[in-house]
Amino acid sequence: MSDCLFCKILAGEIPSSKVYEDEKVVGFKDIQPQAKEHYLFIHREHTANVNEISENSPEQLADIFQGISKFTKSNELEKNGFRVVTNLGPHGCQTVFHTHFHVLGGEQLRGFGS
Ligand code: 5GP
Ligand code: ZN
Repeated sequence: MSDCLFCKILAGEIPSSKVYEDEKVVGFKDIQPQAKEHYLFIHREHTANVNEISENSPEQLADIFQGISKFTKSNELEKNGFRVVTNLGPHGCQTVFHTHFHVLGGEQLRGFGS
């Protein structure tokens, strides 16, 4: 999509700090990290949000989570633990409308009850 920020990152039109890349999926550092380590994992194919990708391209969800799995096994994230979050729409505070999964870790995160 020509007016999509993450499609522009995929096309190399906007710079990013990539941490993971395969033929289907890219992971890069979030520009405003909310934890010591904060990455965004996206599919190279544009979809708008987690419901659209689930309904139209569920295999792409598996691609993304396989990318997250390979990445987090390649460093300390799996050993120490991490969190995956996705936002949808205004109440979820979604600001970029290219399906993405936040991977947060690198420090002790707060539990939902604490
Ligand atoms: P959302 O709020 O849609 O769930 O997440 C969008 C994320 O994209 C935010 O965490 C925000 O910091 C990140 N972001 C926005 N613009 C850029 C950018 O130009 N580069 C990178 N690497 N991240 C961005
Ligand atoms: Zn896009």
